[in-house]
Amino acid sequence: MDAEVLIAGGGPVGLYLAAALLQEGVTVKVFEQRQAPILHTRAIGIHPPALQALAGVQVASSMVHEGVRIRAGMAVSGGKTVGTMVFDRVSRDFPFVLALPQFRTEQLLEERVLALDPGAIARGARVTGVADDGGKVTAAVEAGPGATSPSGGVTGALLVAADGARSTLRERLGIPVVRRTYPDHYLMGDFEDGTEYGDKAVLFLEPGGIVESFPLPGGVRRWVVRLDSPAKAAAGPGDLAQLVHRRTGIRPDPATNSMLSAFSVRSCTAQRTIAGRAVLLGDAAHEISPIGGQGMNLGWLGARDLAPLICAALAGKPMGPQFREFERNRRRAANVARRQAEINMMLGRPLPQPLLRFRVAGIGLAAAIPPVNRWAAARFTMQ
Ligand SMILES: Cc1cc2nc3c(=O)[nH]c(=O)nc-3n(C[C@H](O)[C@H](O)[C@H](O)COP(=O)(O)OP(=O)(O)OC[C@H]3O[C@@H](n4cnc5c(N)ncnc54)[C@H](O)[C@@H]3O)c2cc1C
Repeated sequence: MDAEVLIAGGGPVGLYLAAALLQEGVTVKVFEQRQAPILHTRAIGIHPPALQALAGVQVASSMVHEGVRIRAGMAVSGGKTVGTMVFDRVSRDFPFVLALPQFRTEQLLEERVLALDPGAIARGARVTGVADDGGKVTAAVEAGPGATSPSGGVTGALLVAADGARSTLRERLGIPVVRRTYPDHYLMGDFEDGTEYGDKAVLFLEPGGIVESFPLPGGVRRWVVRLDSPAKAAAGPGDLAQLVHRRTGIRPDPATNSMLSAFSVRSCTAQRTIAGRAVLLGDAAHEISPIGGQGMNLGWLGARDLAPLICAALAGKPMGPQFREFERNRRRAANVARRQAEINMMLGRPLPQPLLRFRVAGIGLAAAIPPVNRWAAARFTMQ
């Protein structure tokens, strides 16, 4: 065999799994279709259970060192603070949500994988097919220009498809999915932080819809504005700054914009995650709305649970029931995260002023009751 475990997709989840397996002495080959990483901030929120898992592959301390520790989140409406949620009791080791751009997270994970095995990642290599003969799995790999491994068949004992929300391997494995679409669209961008919110996350509950705002390393702040319809293709930093200003009174400086992206929300859950010698992981198994920042975290927690099962199976232990339990548990976790994201999106939808006042008062009341506040903080941080 070329490696015991083949991983299709070198995103955050595939890289995390590779590090976890390499640490246990398992041979791994990661195939990543992109020649170079994309420098997009994308996922930024990393919750305490995921930080604990990342500590297990020895990258949490570098991430915490570089990221912003968000220790509290505020709800603001009409210029007034409605409530504050503090994360100091959500975890002993990581009493915060860490904000770090996804590309930096991926770089740190990649460095860890390469420190464990410099030849473990093949870039510019796309997995186009999978054949399972019951005893081994063969991945068809198509090498692009400048690829670090040749085209051809690569064999392993197991293939993990961590190839993202648009997983083509899921389709090739014949795994059905349940998709949901939502009436929620967003425009988001990163700007120099001219506010006085520091390391706090702020949710602005306004009649036109929610505006979310998160600190990022380097004095940057992300702004996310909810829209009723998809943002215009030509929308630029000035449009986003204007929307933020109209709803919150704060005007990010368009000249300092470093990332702009529009997205519409959907979710997609694979009906199975195991097919013979192949396992779906991360967004390939469950795409969750980004609102609430759970998708990447959910993928890591799945990888954390999968790694010991793979090690035991490779050591010759019969692991059928454990893999089935893993599948059930991950589907349950994905459903919990999806529902949480649906609540988050619902709370951000526009409302006429009298109804908004009612909603805001409810949020303020809940935030003022300490056990409710602590429960909400635990739910928000995926615990
Ligand atoms: C705007 C936005 C904000 C978000 N914010 C957060 C957040 O704050 N917190 C959070 O937890 N989540 C967040 N998410 C979700 C998070 O980005 C995803 O859940 C996460 O990237 C999933 O990781 P993954 O490794 O499963 O898939 P991906 O990140 O999609 O990685 C898959 C990789 O596989 C590669 N690939 C695909 N097909 C093949 C193939 N056939 N062969 C080889 N390689 C292949 C791709 O090039 C890619 O690098 C956000 C998402 C968006 C869009």
